Amino acid sequence: MTIHRNISLKPYNTFGIDAVADAMADCHTTSELANTVRTLQGRSVVVGGGSNILFLGDFHGTVIRPLLYGIEVTDITDRHVDIRVGAGVVWDGLVAMCVANGWSGIENLSYIPGRVGAAPVQNVGAYGAEAADVIRFVNAISTDTGAPLRLSADECMFGYRRSIFKHQLKGKAIVTSIEMRLATSFAPNLDYGPVRAAVEQYGRPTLANIRRAIIDIRRAKLPEPDDKGSAGSFFKNPEISEAQADALLRSHPDMPTYKLANGMVKVPAGWLIEQAGWKGRRQGNAGVHDRQALIIVNHGSATGTEIMALAEHICADVRQKFGISLDMEVVIV
Ligand SMILES: Cc1cc2nc3c(=O)[nH]c(=O)nc-3n(C[C@H](O)[C@H](O)[C@H](O)COP(=O)(O)OP(=O)(O)OC[C@H]3O[C@@H](n4cnc5c(N)ncnc54)[C@H](O)[C@@H]3O)c2cc1C
Repeated sequence: MTIHRNISLKPYNTFGIDAVADAMADCHTTSELANTVRTLQGRSVVVGGGSNILFLGDFHGTVIRPLLYGIEVTDITDRHVDIRVGAGVVWDGLVAMCVANGWSGIENLSYIPGRVGAAPVQNVGAYGAEAADVIRFVNAISTDTGAPLRLSADECMFGYRRSIFKHQLKGKAIVTSIEMRLATSFAPNLDYGPVRAAVEQYGRPTLANIRRAIIDIRRAKLPEPDDKGSAGSFFKNPEISEAQADALLRSHPDMPTYKLANGMVKVPAGWLIEQAGWKGRRQGNAGVHDRQALIIVNHGSATGTEIMALAEHICADVRQKFGISLDMEVVIV
């Protein structure tokens, strides 16, 4: 284990916020992680790739980084392959490896930043797929005792950008590895938005072509973390009642809506933010991305509180214009 004192978090969060942590513990094994939580005093936060976190200011406590690597095949048949993947593995490296091996299930999740340990936390999703489609078990340790925990997919209570790790187990479990079942026989998932057309440009819908197409779509729409700081979508797409959606559609007939199985109606937060006039706008060093209104960007030296002030301003405007409260997808620390 390596402990760093008074360390700048700027290289460890994709927003590029220059906050300082009292300490950072880099844990390379599960037992180092367990020892860390058993002996830790004061506050702590787990950080993977820092691509879904906003530090509001300096962190007076310990940042724990579970740098647990390794990808292990635990079962393989002519239909599926089961793998166990360490929490510290870079998510997109895992996707690339699965595509190269002909293992299907996460190719639509190509190019999402971050590490494997965070994937079940917010149930990462994109282009018609989500981590919950393939996760069978999540292994973790308890932050109270350091004891191992093993949760089945059902126990993880996955939903849209949520899981038990964001609710009942928030701050109580550190993911050490995930176990996934991928298909060795390939069924392309092309029905979401522009995916089919983008894949056709490359020819047959092979795993490699889907990955290339998804990366193209994402590069055209999203800021590159090395270019402009962000944490991807800042807000979740809100779910409203059918009655509220009907009322809004009378005054905004072009509002996109998606009916959900639970009777609620999902509205794209990006559309609401754009209609509230925020797309491409800037407030100090923080701003709204000019191609994707769901993304707040750091134009250079924004502080966490500047980013947060902009987010709150956007929320207030959307609430006033549409009567809809936006929830944040990004974890505020
Ligand atoms: C340009 C860009 C595009 C993005 N696109 C998408 C997208 O398409 N879909 C999507 O779902 N997300 C997207 N994101 C958000 C982000 O990449 C994902 O949420 C990712 O899974 C976060 O991984 P991370 O390792 O960076 O997590 P971090 O930001 O480090 O942490 C996120 C949360 O998970 C917790 N956490 C991290 N690791 C562990 C662990 N091992 N155990 C317990 N808790 C842990 C942290 O404490 C924190 O609460 C995007 C972000 C960016 C910057």
